[in-house]
Amino acid sequence: MKRRDFLKLLPAIGVYLSSWQELIGRELQEIIGNRPQALTILPGSGRREVSLPVSWDDGVGYVSADRFAKAFDYNTYLNQQKRKLVIYFPNNKVVVSADNPFVVIDSKIYQIPSSCTWNNGVQIPVAQLVPLLNRFTNTRLDFDKSRFYLSAGKRVLSISGMDINSKANGEVIRIHSNKRFRKGEITSDMRNGWLHVDLYGATADIAELKKTRGSGHVREVNVFEFRKLISVAFRLSKEPLSREVYQDQSNGDIVVVLRYKESIAQNDKKEELEDPRPNRKPETEKAKEKDDLSIDKQLERERERWLIDTVVIDAGHGGRDPGAIGVGGIREKDLALAVALKLGALMKRKMSDVRVVYTRSDDRFIELRRRTQIANENKAKVFISIHANANRSSRASGFETYLLGEEKGSQARSVMERENSVIKFEDPGSQKHYQGINSILVRMTQAGFQKQSEHLASNVQENMAKRLRSLNMKNRGVKQAPFWVMVGASMPSILVEMGFITNKHEARILKTASHQQKIAEGIFSGLQRFKKDYENAI
Ligand SMILES: [Zn+2]
Repeated sequence: MKRRDFLKLLPAIGVYLSSWQELIGRELQEIIGNRPQALTILPGSGRREVSLPVSWDDGVGYVSADRFAKAFDYNTYLNQQKRKLVIYFPNNKVVVSADNPFVVIDSKIYQIPSSCTWNNGVQIPVAQLVPLLNRFTNTRLDFDKSRFYLSAGKRVLSISGMDINSKANGEVIRIHSNKRFRKGEITSDMRNGWLHVDLYGATADIAELKKTRGSGHVREVNVFEFRKLISVAFRLSKEPLSREVYQDQSNGDIVVVLRYKESIAQNDKKEELEDPRPNRKPETEKAKEKDDLSIDKQLERERERWLIDTVVIDAGHGGRDPGAIGVGGIREKDLALAVALKLGALMKRKMSDVRVVYTRSDDRFIELRRRTQIANENKAKVFISIHANANRSSRASGFETYLLGEEKGSQARSVMERENSVIKFEDPGSQKHYQGINSILVRMTQAGFQKQSEHLASNVQENMAKRLRSLNMKNRGVKQAPFWVMVGASMPSILVEMGFITNKHEARILKTASHQQKIAEGIFSGLQRFKKDYENAI
């Protein structure tokens, strides 16, 4: 399929994408089987080309985060215990953590589709991380996916902005730079009430820099561009007692410290200027530890956004769609609703910090894609769809948990075909939303949550097995298949097939409230375990 046609499909089915477009490229790459074994980095600025080995996992190419940073000559700090790497980009601090899809850029948290991994250090999914860096840092990288070439983009300017902080005894100006200035490339002098800071070899968006507002003793800012240098000028209310200009080795900032008072009262200490020591050691361990601590504090503040605070329980089928019909006329839609309500009641009682949202709480018809829409609209963090299985053979038995994925094995296929066939109950206008979609697209939409969905599915399956042990029911395990009902869910999603209603024994017990309660308890315990693990990881 042409990329253009592929893209055309997306709005047609209302797939949630926003920042997942990058995956399209990845999936296409996967189709054509292009999995380069090395990433070539052309760091620019006269630095030599570097080749990093790429390891592939589930279609995602990973490279060492540390070696990636070193290729560009960026400093890093590894917290071995927390498996967390801080990369000091020229103007931004980026933190990546193993087994974690969250990337912290300057204390803000972003999620990429796949988790970073660990192999003698943090490994990053490079094709997913680069767009994030381009969007939220001052670094610009051009990534050629087909050849796996990464080069410093042309848009990189060495000066990206500045800010002025007024302290009790003076001013601290930080000019954000990604260029390492050598000795003699930064000079400063006072002329007619203006302090000029000349930066040789620097490049900047002059118009943007000029917008910097004065503060305290800095009354006005002006910037001039010459052939070989950028001159940043500050009009000062009066000449300072002392001034120092140096480059902060940890982040590249050019720091201008203007001291107006020798000392200040003890209780104003915290407002005092930082001690300007141009030759201080760039990255003392203590400073790094402090850095890391503050990152943790910020993480703590931000992680609340990611807590599992809303769960959507989706009772399969309903209304004019009865689902499968089993022994004695037993209907899938009734069993699904009964278990869904029992699960919801359990959650309300034992997981009161979580909001429960039902896609249906009575016998009504709901279109498949409306179900995940409900989940997305409610910003649900987990989507659980409940179903009962059917088979032409009355001997088929057992319970299983599915996540969205390419179908593997003929049994998964038959369940998928049956569950997906219910679109026939939708009106023709709605049905066409599902046409022309293939499993690649299905995979793409959930790839970001694949690992979490897998984790949720295995916990649910394991806990159902525990509850149902005495009944001697067959544990059919965790499987993958492309179910429409989960397409478009932007959260970890599973589909539980709680037993075969075409099996005489299972149909009989599935009807009983006590058995339904056991299934609900199994799903609940699995969810509880998942919630704990997930929230510990963020
Ligand atoms: Zn079903």
